[in-house]
Amino acid sequence: VLGQSIDQGAGSLFILVAGVFSNVAASYDTMNDFMSLGIHRLWKDHFVRSINPGSPDQAWKMLDIAGGTGDIAFRLLDHATNINSSPASTITISDINPAMLAEGKKRSLETAYANSPRLDFLVANAENLHTIPSNSIDLYTVAFGIRNFTDKDKALREAYRVLKPGGVFACLEFSGVTNPILDAVYKQWSFGAIPMIGQLVAGDRASYQYLVESIEKFPKQEEFKSMIQNAGFVVPGKGWEDLTFGIAAIHKGIKP
Ligand code: SAM
Repeated sequence: VLGQSIDQGAGSLFILVAGVFSNVAASYDTMNDFMSLGIHRLWKDHFVRSINPGSPDQAWKMLDIAGGTGDIAFRLLDHATNINSSPASTITISDINPAMLAEGKKRSLETAYANSPRLDFLVANAENLHTIPSNSIDLYTVAFGIRNFTDKDKALREAYRVLKPGGVFACLEFSGVTNPILDAVYKQWSFGAIPMIGQLVAGDRASYQYLVESIEKFPKQEEFKSMIQNAGFVVPGKGWEDLTFGIAAIHKGIKP
């Protein structure tokens, strides 16, 4: 069912990705902690602080793409509400995988936003957000999602389309470790330990093997910055911020 809207060529990758995240949905948060030694939480906190969403005089309309279990969305709402006194700011958590969104919904019931009109859920492919009007969104976030998209340029063009002029694209994703010695250590960890931890904790080596390979294949900092610019965004400053030696990076773009 998930693969129906995808053309033949992209279909097999799409079904694979859908399967991976269905397999890991229930154990996803635990696995993130194991794989990153808990560091993903610090990266996510920093990501949201760096965006600084919401303002007292204007409610932000936010869209968290590949939002999965809601890790970024709840942080964005908390920040907008508690730090920037913006209690009317809203967020849509969107993901291609209903199982991941179902986990997100379940988790939302334990937050201040349980059944709140400020939070809604949308099953959608990031490459085709046809239910979201053009020029309607203040902030588009995607964390650890875009490397899984089949057509990343198409997803970036959709991000551009849905954002208002002046709207912000913000992406948190695995990237390239610049120091060669640290990179060798990191590769040992990711290719050696992560599939093994996947096997032991989630009983699923193949899905975690896929995740490690998708990190390796994803464009590194400079190349991804160019992709964001090619979609039409203006990139502020250097264009990205490295986190933990470049294991992850934050990229931003503004729609002019
Ligand atoms: N953003 C969350 C976080 O940081 O914890 C979840 C990240 S999870 C590693 C990647 C998510 O991307 C999964 O929930 C998966 O279903 C979603 N995904 C993969 N391909 C997608 C696509 N084409 N469109 C939308 N979501 C997609």
